Amino acid sequence: MLSKILDGNKISKKIIQKIKKEVKYENRFRKRPPGLAVIWINNNISSKIYIKKKTIACNAVGFYTEEWKLKSSIKEQDILILIKKLNNEEKIDGILIQLPLPSHINTQKVIESIHPKKDVDGFHPYNIGCLCQKKPKLRPCTPKGIMTLFKEYHLSIQGLNATVIGASNIVGRPMALELLLSGCTTTIVHRFTKNLKQHLQNADLIIIAIGKANFLHNKNIKKGTIIVDVGINRIEKTNTIVGDVDFESVYSHVSYITPVPGGVGPMTVATLLQNTVAGYKKKYTYDENI
Ligand code: NAD
Repeated sequence: MLSKILDGNKISKKIIQKIKKEVKYENRFRKRPPGLAVIWINNNISSKIYIKKKTIACNAVGFYTEEWKLKSSIKEQDILILIKKLNNEEKIDGILIQLPLPSHINTQKVIESIHPKKDVDGFHPYNIGCLCQKKPKLRPCTPKGIMTLFKEYHLSIQGLNATVIGASNIVGRPMALELLLSGCTTTIVHRFTKNLKQHLQNADLIIIAIGKANFLHNKNIKKGTIIVDVGINRIEKTNTIVGDVDFESVYSHVSYITPVPGGVGPMTVATLLQNTVAGYKKKYTYDENI
């Protein structure tokens, strides 16, 4: 029997190997490697884990990296000054700011201060707008990573009824735009949705990103559904990481599913590297004065 697992670990390793070769090749002409600056302020465990994974991956492919660990008491103005400097820094192609930011900082203002050409997270309104208008440039890493996973598994999703659970700026909303771009009939459901069950049972493809451990059960879905689990939830009692899907319960019902860990997470990191290389190679044109 064919495996139902969409293996993000396997595919991300393949992408990372490809990037490594590309960096080695490009370095000879451009006389420098791609550069990524990572700014982080909060000290929570998930942020530390994400940054560690990103740094390991960047080192593995030969990127130049700068890590800016800032004090939580830092003033918004000082972050904006740092970003302005990085925007003008020749050796930096991508600027990543680890979210969430402390409450005294205006997150949107900080995101908008990154020049869109260096916005490797793809969160700047300009980049989101391009995706919305079917002319994508730098795209949010998690949704784009999921689309890459479908492509690598030759999954044709055009025409499917796709339901995205969760409507955040970083996952749910850009995910819905990606699915729309691929020709899915796309529905977004969220905490205020009244008839959630009906939307789920109508779905051929479900992408869930809500941050609630084991939320999605087999009784919510129809047979043969493709499920992508974005959720990362730490279970304190067992010190394990689980997704938003009750994997055991849905497995016999699905046609494909991403595991947690080893599904979407590694694809997010691999996509961040792809976006940084795209910035380095100036794959997309941006007006300098945006
Ligand atoms: P968020 O808290 O910003 O948004 C959660 C969304 O879920 C909201 O739109 C909310 O309306 C919706 N929601 C909450 N409860 C719901 C319910 N009962 N029914 C329907 N909708 C509900 O979260 P986020 O930043 O989008 O992250 C979601 C999850 O994805 C988290 O576990 C996060 O750690 C994980 N995440 C994983 C990756 C990755 O690379 N794997 C990347 C980003 C986020």
